[in-house]
Amino acid sequence: MRRKLAAGNWKMNGLNEALAEMQKLAESHADSTTEILLCPPATLLSRAANTLGDTAIILGGQDCHAVKNGAHTGDISADMLADAGAKWVIVGHSERREDHDEHNEDVRAKANAAWEAGLGAIICLGESLAQREAANTLDIIAGQLAGSIPDNATAENLVIAYEPIWAIGTGKVPTLAQIGEVHDFIRARMERRFGAGVGRGIRILYGGSVKPDNATEIFSVPNVDGALVGGASLKAADFSQIIDALEAG
Ligand code: PEP
Repeated sequence: MRRKLAAGNWKMNGLNEALAEMQKLAESHADSTTEILLCPPATLLSRAANTLGDTAIILGGQDCHAVKNGAHTGDISADMLADAGAKWVIVGHSERREDHDEHNEDVRAKANAAWEAGLGAIICLGESLAQREAANTLDIIAGQLAGSIPDNATAENLVIAYEPIWAIGTGKVPTLAQIGEVHDFIRARMERRFGAGVGRGIRILYGGSVKPDNATEIFSVPNVDGALVGGASLKAADFSQIIDALEAG
């Protein structure tokens, strides 16, 4: 009942020539049943929207400001992302939390701003290595869920991405049991907070060093509804294999 989602986070990568990779991806997944989302840098969004046209690939932003407009030099509002062709926006990525000192309340405000602009919000959360080693993972996740997700979440406007910080860009991946434990925990929390209907409909992505050679086993874990992919989403050939693995699962 939950539509699978393959989301690519290009981070601070991608110049004009990268549009060709998007086009390649669109051509090889014209009839995809999986939802395919690319989040390029904001500078490419409008051009990407023109390139992709009405293909199966949709676009998202990587962050947004919490307010609609104003004196915030260098920032981008959710309305601006929507205007440029985005349908979703990633908020609370660990690199934002770390590099820009963003906390749960900031993430919550950004998710609300996304919803006001008509965008869906992909809210990221995950523990550090020290927190995992101290056996605090589920407490940390519980706090991030409670603090980052606004009360008016629905299965349509929210996607949660579980991304252990120590797995992002490192090539290290949690065991399938560790992924399963956290995804089951998130599902249970969402059902408890929003009711079984909404809680069961919210998609939960895994993110952290997903590659073509580990995607199939990660997607076999219950309550993994797709992936948020960084490095391996930059090349159409790699991301394509991950999408195929998701669709086959
Ligand atoms: C990410 O940026 O969200 C991510 C998961 O990166 P990578 O796939 O490169 O680990």
